[in-house]
Amino acid sequence: MSTFTSLSAQLSRLSAGLQGEVILPGQPRFDEARRAFNLAADQHPAAVVFAESPHDVAAAVTFAAGQGQQIAAQGTGHNAMPLGPLTGTILLKTERMRGIQIDPQARTARVEAGAVWSDVVNAAAKHGLAALAGSSPNVGVIGYTLGGGVSFLGRKYGLSASNVRAIEVVTADGRLRRADSEHEPDLFWALRGGGGSFGIVTALELRLFPITQLYAGILWYPIERGPEVLRAWRDLTRGAVPDELTTVGRFLRLPPVPDLPAEIRGKSFALIEAFHLGDPAQADELLAPLRALGPVHDTIKTITVPELLRVHMDPDQPVAGLGDGLMIASLPDEAIDALVSTAGTSARFPLASVEVRHLGGELGRHRRQNGALGSLQAPYLMFAAGITPTPDLKAPATAAVEAVEDALTPWMARHMYLNFSETSRPRATLWTERAYQGLRQIKARVDPDDVIRSNHPIPPVQ
Ligand SMILES: Cc1cc2nc3c(=O)[nH]c(=O)nc-3n(C[C@H](O)[C@H](O)[C@H](O)COP(=O)(O)OP(=O)(O)OC[C@H]3O[C@@H](n4cnc5c(N)ncnc54)[C@H](O)[C@@H]3O)c2cc1C
Repeated sequence: MSTFTSLSAQLSRLSAGLQGEVILPGQPRFDEARRAFNLAADQHPAAVVFAESPHDVAAAVTFAAGQGQQIAAQGTGHNAMPLGPLTGTILLKTERMRGIQIDPQARTARVEAGAVWSDVVNAAAKHGLAALAGSSPNVGVIGYTLGGGVSFLGRKYGLSASNVRAIEVVTADGRLRRADSEHEPDLFWALRGGGGSFGIVTALELRLFPITQLYAGILWYPIERGPEVLRAWRDLTRGAVPDELTTVGRFLRLPPVPDLPAEIRGKSFALIEAFHLGDPAQADELLAPLRALGPVHDTIKTITVPELLRVHMDPDQPVAGLGDGLMIASLPDEAIDALVSTAGTSARFPLASVEVRHLGGELGRHRRQNGALGSLQAPYLMFAAGITPTPDLKAPATAAVEAVEDALTPWMARHMYLNFSETSRPRATLWTERAYQGLRQIKARVDPDDVIRSNHPIPPVQ
């Protein structure tokens, strides 16, 4: 019997012991099963396991370890690109584990491994509570939080990872553990910002906040006005901005699709997005210089927390895209010029979105109780992405993303942000040197044989 056949036979036996299912190469649903949200990721794992319970996760991990194989967890596949083709690896999908329990008194949510942000935001909103969701309704809560988690509420409340109360995780030995500040504190520290290298998370307990509405939306300008708009936005971010206000400077090119309103459909813009907690008058005062530039549309208004998930207009459905990001230490005029020349009207390839988020506030405060990514030590976070529905667009889109990154390199911060890294980066740049060495030691303790494979893997210290 060939190795492949014998592995297939063993995987079929694994399947019999699961509530979920195992789908193997050659089976009719394999192509659908191996698909990631990012359709540009072409995954060819040894098998896809759809787990339905912590028991399933433990069985799959034990199986992989016993076979000397690696296993990779995937919630949605938004950040699947750095995983590569996954040849010989078991892909464990958590999308069927979507349970959510809200405790309105304790203001917490217990969220199972496959939940996406809209699940949690909508469940919490019923109790007048908000979660530290990212910009997209369909990004996975676990992948996002393990990588840090930058919300538009983050300047006020910090990283999502800094607001985790407990983590239920299956480690490489097949054990389901609960990690919190009193139990398994090292593992708890590593999982909060260290990514998915330390185990397969089956559930997270997150803090929620008593927020029902915000003052948020977009100031829209024609893309040609990028230089002056981005300068004015940069000036705003350099002033005394309260933690309650988060803004984003962005180039956005919208597709000519019928479900967009006619006034923005198929057009390109320089945008300022604003998200404000508290009295709208305070935001209006801070945004006055940007409004004085005369946006063609002003959609900033009071919205509910679930509506917040739509402001940034992230894709609803799986889409093929190539993107990458970096953190920026400063934005002098020369950096704005560099951004405009590679992402604005003179860009050689029209990237769908190039955004720069203002960080700082609580995101930049390193609290002792925080995890491996204790804070983001940079004032700005850039992400550039191109849509690549056909293979011929991959090379120019990649080149365009790299051109933006290269142009901003002189102002790049020392560290990168894991969640906005969609290429294989030198690992050590994602954390402080001390945190990275700590992560390698914890990896060696909980997974010395490197069974658990994440998209930004941490090698165990030898
Ligand atoms: C449109 C879009 C909008 C985004 N907006 C934001 C934003 O506002 N703020 C922000 O911080 N980030 C944002 N991101 C980045 C996003 O947080 C990362 O891509 C994140 O990794 C996605 O998590 P996922 O579970 O959806 O993706 P996946 O690709 O499924 O997971 C990514 C990695 O997370 C780990 N992982 C996932 N589930 C588990 C698990 N159960 N156990 C262990 N490890 C696991 C694995 O290592 C996996 O490779 C955005 C990305 C996109 C594409």
